[in-house]
Amino acid sequence: AKREGKNGVRFFASTLDVAAQSQMFTEVRLRRALQRQELHLHYQPQVDARTGALLGLEALVRWTDEQLGDVPPARFIPVAEESGLIVPLGQWVLNEACRQLAQWGPGVPVAVNVSVLEVARDDFVAGVRSTLERHGLSGTQLKLELTERLAVRDLHRAARHLSQLRDLGVRLSLDDFGMGQSSVSTLLKLPLDELKLDRSLLADLEDSPEARRIVESLIGLARGLNLSVIVEGVETTGQLEILRAMPCSAVQGYLTGRPAAPDAWTERIRAVQSE
Ligand code: C2E
Ligand code: CA
Ligand code: CA
Ligand code: CA
Repeated sequence: AKREGKNGVRFFASTLDVAAQSQMFTEVRLRRALQRQELHLHYQPQVDARTGALLGLEALVRWTDEQLGDVPPARFIPVAEESGLIVPLGQWVLNEACRQLAQWGPGVPVAVNVSVLEVARDDFVAGVRSTLERHGLSGTQLKLELTERLAVRDLHRAARHLSQLRDLGVRLSLDDFGMGQSSVSTLLKLPLDELKLDRSLLADLEDSPEARRIVESLIGLARGLNLSVIVEGVETTGQLEILRAMPCSAVQGYLTGRPAAPDAWTERIRAVQSE
């Protein structure tokens, strides 16, 4: 840009990627929202594919900004990961989910999304342990869903940290399997309890025998590795029927429950607790 002189620079500045600009603005607003505690969590049920019984709830972060409106996590989580804000955000989410979990009481575990980026940090295990202690929770009430949006240099360190959490009874799920970076090689490197199949795998499930075979194979892969499976993004009874027949044991999706504020689940949790 220097050699192009004034005009070149001006040209560059004026076309400064609209995407980059909105990313910077998102970052500024997100930092502010974190400081002001303006985020909140919704929860989506994970259910037994056959009986519909409530197995757990996934915490999903929600953010409404005065200027940006409702910002979907798909837009601000990547920004948080690139800016480092994912660390305080992740800490806030974990603490809030644990606070809610303690209020609900035992019986229905909560799943929290964490990026492998957070897990590789040296203070991650201590942070999870102290959060559980702060709310008087056992590790068995918590599940972590691991996402790998960014390439991680130190998967081995992440694996070591995850093993320590597993010793506390925390369950570990590999999120978005079958999509993007969630790869077979990760299965070898991380200690895991569960494979979560990405909803993109369901798109053609009802029309394509190949799509069915792929999902079936992935369920078989999980079984071969002694992992449980949950399929996300189930929207139709047709999909549910096909999955049941495979058989797939656990599902999550709009069909069996949309993400909703914590109050929406209190009664169902009570029912599980009084069984
Ligand atoms: P995810 O972990 O794969 O979560 C599932 C996403 O799919 C959620 O979107 C959920 O609302 C949506 N969903 C659930 N059932 C269905 C369905 O039947 N059909 C369709 N079309 N969508 C369904 P959401 O809440 O917008 O979150 C998007 C992503 O953002 C999540 O994908 C997760 O990767 C990330 N995310 C959300 N909350 C957190 C968080 O607290 N921390 C981190 N690190 N990431 C988060
Ligand atoms: Ca997830
Ligand atoms: Ca997904
Ligand atoms: Ca995910």
